[in-house]
Amino acid sequence: MRTASTVPQIAGLNAPLAWRTVDFISDLHLSADEPATFAAWQHYLQHTPADAVFMLGDLFEVWVGDDCVSDGFEARCARVLREAAHRLALFFMPGNRDFLVGPRFMQACRTTWLDDPTVLTFAGQRWLLSHGDALCLDDTDYLQFRQQVRSPGWQSAFLAQPLAERQALARHMRQQSQAHQQSATAYADVDSAAARQWLRAARAPVLIHGHTHRPARHDLGGGLSRLVLSDWDAQASPPRADALRLTASGLQRIALLPPPP
Ligand code: MN
Repeated sequence: MRTASTVPQIAGLNAPLAWRTVDFISDLHLSADEPATFAAWQHYLQHTPADAVFMLGDLFEVWVGDDCVSDGFEARCARVLREAAHRLALFFMPGNRDFLVGPRFMQACRTTWLDDPTVLTFAGQRWLLSHGDALCLDDTDYLQFRQQVRSPGWQSAFLAQPLAERQALARHMRQQSQAHQQSATAYADVDSAAARQWLRAARAPVLIHGHTHRPARHDLGGGLSRLVLSDWDAQASPPRADALRLTASGLQRIALLPPPP
């Protein structure tokens, strides 16, 4: 049975007038096992000309609670964000892998939390931002799981467990999710009717989202469209990593990693 689409509450953010350039990235799936992608992200945050970077979900492969940030890989990620925050504004929207990122981590990284969805007003235009998973209506098993794990009750029970147990549970959930993806005949994609509904409610012509790992521009009719971000994999050939870059003259897709010589 298909879940009926409902338009969630839409948060709003007005870009300060001083911003000239805004970048959107998503689905980096950062983990200690992918050092090349981490290095590409670090280099990108040190060099982007953007005044603000919006990370639209699944920045991390997995997140089991902010107490993991005191050492190891997560501490290195926090340092990269903190250093970047000296020269640009950082925003984080949770994805289906890192929805447990919490205020303690955000504060430590001087990064601002963004609700999903949020409408950004920049240079007089409205842009709807989402991770995208809530719009994949055909994946009913996942949407049920999403509803469960986003509830405050589930989250506080999960976070009350010792870190090692949370890590073991996260590994188990990832194996289940991979098995689910392999058994499905096709990956669910963003539902066009639901995307149009969200855009009308937001009074925005363009939806920018990630999650599906299928970078493209889709015309939704009636002057509406959605732009899909790429995932990042610095070791794929060709390497994948792009940003959508917004300036007063419009939105452009920027390839962040050159193909190897
Ligand atoms: Mn995702």
